[in-house]
Amino acid sequence: MTAPVTNGVVKGWCPDAWRPMMAGDGLLVRVRPPLGRLTRVQALGLCEAATRHGNGQIDATTRANLQIRGVREDSWRPLIDALLDLALIEPDPVREARANILVALEWCVGDDTHRVVEELRARLSELPDLPGKVGFAIDAGPTPVLRDAPADFRIERAMSGSLILRADGRDLGIPLSHGTEVDRLIALAHWFVDSGGRANKRMARHDALLPEWATATTPPAFAATALEPGPHPLGMALGLPFGRIAATALTRLLEAEPICAIRMTPWHVVICEADGPFQANPAEFITDPSSPVLHADACVGAPACPQATVETRALAHRLAPHVAGSLHVSGCAKGCARAAPADIVLTGRKGRYDLAYAARAGSLPAVTGLDAAQILAHFGAA
Ligand code: SF4
Repeated sequence: MTAPVTNGVVKGWCPDAWRPMMAGDGLLVRVRPPLGRLTRVQALGLCEAATRHGNGQIDATTRANLQIRGVREDSWRPLIDALLDLALIEPDPVREARANILVALEWCVGDDTHRVVEELRARLSELPDLPGKVGFAIDAGPTPVLRDAPADFRIERAMSGSLILRADGRDLGIPLSHGTEVDRLIALAHWFVDSGGRANKRMARHDALLPEWATATTPPAFAATALEPGPHPLGMALGLPFGRIAATALTRLLEAEPICAIRMTPWHVVICEADGPFQANPAEFITDPSSPVLHADACVGAPACPQATVETRALAHRLAPHVAGSLHVSGCAKGCARAAPADIVLTGRKGRYDLAYAARAGSLPAVTGLDAAQILAHFGAA
């Protein structure tokens, strides 16, 4: 069986393990760990699979997924078999495509987040056929933590302490009673499709009036502060520079430290569940919450992405300490690494960079046609 490959030019399409995307460095195979968590065995198996079948590079995405890069077409099926053996992907491609679920990271077995996610995963077949990028956030801990993460439908905590269902782009949520959360979520997904949401592709762009049964009346609770690298109640939170880690480095970490599981987050930070204290500061990860690289986003850029005409991450690494605020270096106007505006944005175009301020990738630039040396000199990083 060969991979049903698509390239990254297709808009609104979202790759997954069963529908990999062709990138400049080979196939990109996305993995959505159930509940956003990999056991130690799964994490070690994923590293081995990424090394054997890919180029050994693993990306963490803004939807808390993992991407194995550099997979050859003849390695795709063996990689899929390895991921199935590790129970990291669904055997059914339709279910895998629908399992686009962000999970509040500090869930524990039996709490509201765990209960709702498990029920939603069991009922994926009841969802309608949604546009590829539509996703869910189950953020039912004591305080919402996924507010800045991409999701079209959220179950989150209200000020009152009860749960609400909130459609993206709406300030208020629909009150939920215990045990009906997934019924309502599925019903709202069907309303989205029936009211023409497919044409708008995302909930935030779909301004149809919510149905009468889904009157939104309730504000969500205030969001928690962002997760930072450093000691965490579950173990240790570690930053991944630009969301990338080499499988060899992750394997070394798993073998050196008392890690029993890894939880993915949408912020290029992973939480290592640990049975004891860490022995050392792992060099390939960010452990300092003041590291400027944490405020920089950069997609994979050239040569790995066929859309890119410029290098991205090395430039972002050099610039980050010299930039006040957030930095986004994007290989092209698509802006995969960051949907939100950044204080400084460099967008690749025809082998040069356009510079914009307080903007998204591809926004109207203040200066066009810069090369890397000019940018470094401009920010005092030469
Ligand atoms: S933003 Fe970066 S990764 Fe996304 S398509 Fe453009 S060059 Fe490729």
